[in-house]
Amino acid sequence: METKVEASETMSDLRTHAAEIAEQFSDHLDVDEDDVEERLQNLVDEYRVPVDEARRSVVNSYLDEAGLERDELGRGGAEETLLADIDEDEQWVDVTAKVVDLWDPRSDSISQVGLLGDESGTLKFVSFKTSELPELDEGAVYELGNVVTDEYQGNFSVKLNRTTTIEELDEDIEVGDDDVTIEGALVDIQSGSGLIKRCPEEGCTRVLQNGRCNEHGNVEGEFDLRIKGVVDDGNEVHDVIFNKEMTEELTGISLEEAKQMAMDALDTTIVVDEMRDDLVGVYYRVTGPTFGRYVLADETERLTGPADAEAVLIKARSI
Ligand SMILES: [Zn+2]
Repeated sequence: METKVEASETMSDLRTHAAEIAEQFSDHLDVDEDDVEERLQNLVDEYRVPVDEARRSVVNSYLDEAGLERDELGRGGAEETLLADIDEDEQWVDVTAKVVDLWDPRSDSISQVGLLGDESGTLKFVSFKTSELPELDEGAVYELGNVVTDEYQGNFSVKLNRTTTIEELDEDIEVGDDDVTIEGALVDIQSGSGLIKRCPEEGCTRVLQNGRCNEHGNVEGEFDLRIKGVVDDGNEVHDVIFNKEMTEELTGISLEEAKQMAMDALDTTIVVDEMRDDLVGVYYRVTGPTFGRYVLADETERLTGPADAEAVLIKARSI
């Protein structure tokens, strides 16, 4: 009795696998569900291959037939997604978006790289030469079917691939900005702040540690100003990066003045020490895009005190 139930479960299981596989290949091959099921069943029943392995083997044989790589294969039934909702790696999605910006690819394997935008925000996209897709025009709106999400150091992008469908739409999209605004006290300034040196190698700009670039070794660095600050909004802490312009505005110390201070003291750390004295404990409103776990300050406003004094009081009482 038990074996019978198991057997029939395996049967319906195989049917589901077969349907999924057929769907995956529906854009590429004329794959018959019964045929897939028969191949699976043959492997499972005759050769005692575990179902997962059987599935992999059958998929591989269809990939060979279609001349596709595994990562070019759609999952079938990709979901229409807003760009700002993309928060997982390797998901197959459909998006409707405007090409906001295109820039020069840094690799020969890339045919296009740029920024897509929809009402929720913007996201980087990459299209590879091997996918042989038509080029997208800046300013045009497209329905992009079957793109795959990618994550690198907390930043998401989408990759167009050989299975991606592209349809230009005769409409415009009001692209939303995905800036965040936080208000809170600057509670810490982290190492790597103040007067720093960056690697001068083309396209590198890494911050040097004791005159060394992680990538290029000992180099003659170029001076820059920045602050890696920690802002506590009362609920959570945010890592905020203030670039040279923002740092100059925040501290009133220009890059030239910072260099002079360091020269006079024969010590570059005097700059960050002075900044720390000035800024820590002060309340700010910071607005800017996020990059990984960082907020990149575009606009900074010094506040006179806690933005929401009552909330801070309530919190203080509850501690
Ligand atoms: Zn470097």
